[in-house]
Amino acid sequence: MSKPFSDHDKRKQISVRGLAGVENVAELKVAFNRHLHFTLVKDRNVANKRDYYFALANTVRDHLVGRWIRTQQYYYEKDPKRVYYISLEFYMGRTLQNTMVNLALENACDEAIYQLGLDMEELEDMEEDAGLGNGGLGRLAACFLDSMASLGLAAYGYGIRYEFGIFNQKIVNGWQVEEADDWLRYGNPWEKARPEYMRAVKFYGRTEHTPDGVKWVDTQVVLALPYDTPIPGYRNNIVNTMRLWSAKAPCDFNLKDFNVGGYIQAVLDRNLCENISRVLYPNDNFFEGKELRLKQEYFVVAATLQDVVRRFKASKFGSREVVRTDFAELPNKAWDVCVRTCAYTNHTVLPEALERWPIDLFHHLLPRHLEIIFEINHRFMEFPGDHDRMRRMSLIEEGGCKKVNMAHLCIVGSHAVNGVARIHSEILIATLYVFKDFYELDPHKFQNKTNGITPRRWLVMCNPGLAEVIAEKIGEEFIRDLDQLKRLLKFINDDAFIRDIAKVKQENKLKFAVHLEEHYKVKINPQSMFDFQVKRIHEYKRQLLNCLHMITYYNRIKKEPNKHWTPRTIMVGGKAAPGYHTAKMIIRLITAIGEVVNHDPVVGDRLKVIFLENYRVTLAEKAIPSADLSEQISTAGTEASGTGNMKFMLNGALTIGTMDGANVEMAEEAGEENLFIFGMRVEDVDAMDAGKGYHASEYYNRIPELKQAMDQIAGGFFSPKQPDLFKELVDLLMHHDRFKVFADYEAYIKCQDKVNQLYKNPKEWTKMVIHNIAGCGKFSSDRTIAQYAREIWGMEPSLEKIPAPDEKLK
Ligand SMILES: *Cc1c(COP(=O)(O)O)cnc(C)c1O
Repeated sequence: MSKPFSDHDKRKQISVRGLAGVENVAELKVAFNRHLHFTLVKDRNVANKRDYYFALANTVRDHLVGRWIRTQQYYYEKDPKRVYYISLEFYMGRTLQNTMVNLALENACDEAIYQLGLDMEELEDMEEDAGLGNGGLGRLAACFLDSMASLGLAAYGYGIRYEFGIFNQKIVNGWQVEEADDWLRYGNPWEKARPEYMRAVKFYGRTEHTPDGVKWVDTQVVLALPYDTPIPGYRNNIVNTMRLWSAKAPCDFNLKDFNVGGYIQAVLDRNLCENISRVLYPNDNFFEGKELRLKQEYFVVAATLQDVVRRFKASKFGSREVVRTDFAELPNKAWDVCVRTCAYTNHTVLPEALERWPIDLFHHLLPRHLEIIFEINHRFMEFPGDHDRMRRMSLIEEGGCKKVNMAHLCIVGSHAVNGVARIHSEILIATLYVFKDFYELDPHKFQNKTNGITPRRWLVMCNPGLAEVIAEKIGEEFIRDLDQLKRLLKFINDDAFIRDIAKVKQENKLKFAVHLEEHYKVKINPQSMFDFQVKRIHEYKRQLLNCLHMITYYNRIKKEPNKHWTPRTIMVGGKAAPGYHTAKMIIRLITAIGEVVNHDPVVGDRLKVIFLENYRVTLAEKAIPSADLSEQISTAGTEASGTGNMKFMLNGALTIGTMDGANVEMAEEAGEENLFIFGMRVEDVDAMDAGKGYHASEYYNRIPELKQAMDQIAGGFFSPKQPDLFKELVDLLMHHDRFKVFADYEAYIKCQDKVNQLYKNPKEWTKMVIHNIAGCGKFSSDRTIAQYAREIWGMEPSLEKIPAPDEKLK
């Protein structure tokens, strides 16, 4: 297949990408050539694609630095309240195109690169993803940074500069194989090391209780070296900072204690403490309880708090504030500052994901902190309450091995606690094993902040064609104010608009089909329905339910091959945690189904099942604009919010989903009739658990198509060389499925029939798409951040610009 259109010609017509003025283009070309020569030390004879990418990245970076310095000066002068977003994950993806979008440089750069005889998309594809996250939680942090900068908040992201981000996934003979993500190998043009702000973080040792107080002694010191990355707001001249800490051994590491003979070993042992920032733990929604992970958590917090206090003391307000120290009052004051400063966001109700650190491990690593946690618990427990409630609420869990319940510690130590979608926040306060008791003690603490996504990356950047069709109707304000998308409803019967929306989708599908063919040698039918389930592989997300649909649809086509079947390309992508055996088997089942279905001549191109290798931010940006159907099919009550659901909705896909997470609010915003909602509600799941329970065999015995599909998996139909390959998965589904896949099977298949029916009517399909796009306003992370700012942080967001670097400061 050849390229369906010239990307360069396509891109330059588009106004949302900024102006390509002649002077801008000339200046960019000069800067590009200067960087190729002076920064990369290359000429056009020897430069390769990566050199050109670095030259362009440095050229674009030049446009950030003046604004970055100026923004930080401006914050110093005005001394606004600061917000610190501390997270172990920032799933940033690529930076080049996002920077060009936010600085309105995209068309000018495109033209400059074109005039230099280079291909913009080829250069963009040289950039490594900053994969410092697992999935939704890490990507949320990245979207929030974009929104905080775009709303003029003096915000800082603080995290760890992992040397290895989320692993790269290879599919070998149908199985997931992990490869290390050596993303810094060629250097990172977006970061700036700041050794002058290095901090010391202590571990291990013991406490000494003396008449003058408690001392933490015999500790091991690790240095935290900060690296800063600029975070530009959308066309407002603001550039905030993400500061990531890297672990560094002190010069005297292990040397004091040794004579000259130990020197070589002491230098080699520096690795041990520098391991703290070596690698991201690849678990999504799962607590592993490893010492190195607790080290990472304390490392980021201890380094960040020192930095926050340093900045506060150097600030205008902080340098005037006289801190009077009545030592007797110090602990109460410290605790008061902690509670009034901290807010805690809960991201899951899955019990296996909640952190409960064994006391022994905690004591070994942070002996003084454990004593303080005991003291906090002691004082917290001084409220009236029955014995059972006290036990449930304790920060220290009793039983076999004592554990620190970190969620409980967070609630007690924060002035606000929130969930990430309305239904999730409701479940948090209504569920006993979660936060019900805490809610009853202090209901005012608990809030909801429904998640969102940044419309810059997830519409303007990844789907310029759609952004342009929208802008032609309602202007460009929706990029800053996504509620404006409502105005599209005026055009719901405008045939030309409907055709334009459908045309952009078809172009995006063609482009993704070309991408798949170029990179993975798979041919798909661009007229078929593109049906995606892309997200981490997890039992609760129910990729297995999707598998049962694939098999059922296949069986139906085989049974009546001459009937008209709506052609579908079902694509599933996502990483399984390396230690999560069941998730890896789910991937193997999907690839096995593909092997059978995709080579069946009776089926032809009416059904294809494709596993998308190495799903990550960059692949999401390529895939989502091409989607017709978005699969959001978790068991009701298990997905806290989801954000993939929002990305698909904004890019003109229809959703088939359960009433879970933010799907509930998506249905409310677009109209429930404009989503394909099926299956049990939370109340149904609860009633089942409280009543007769879930019995998979009843569904298996009652529903012939389900029985047939299960018998095929169990009998080796999809794994003829190894008939019992999926024995464990079958056993799981039949006997200990916590997520009740079979209970929703019938409703899901019926709902997929309805999807097929509508797909036969392109005009009605596209009108439903428009209802969805128009209902997306709520799911901008700008709305989410504005609510955090006003309702938790006590700050006021603003769409004002600050002066550009070449303008005078007011
Ligand atoms: C948005 C996103 C996610 C989250 O997807 P969910 O469907 O909400 O789980 C995960 N991974 C990547 C790469 C994403 O961009």
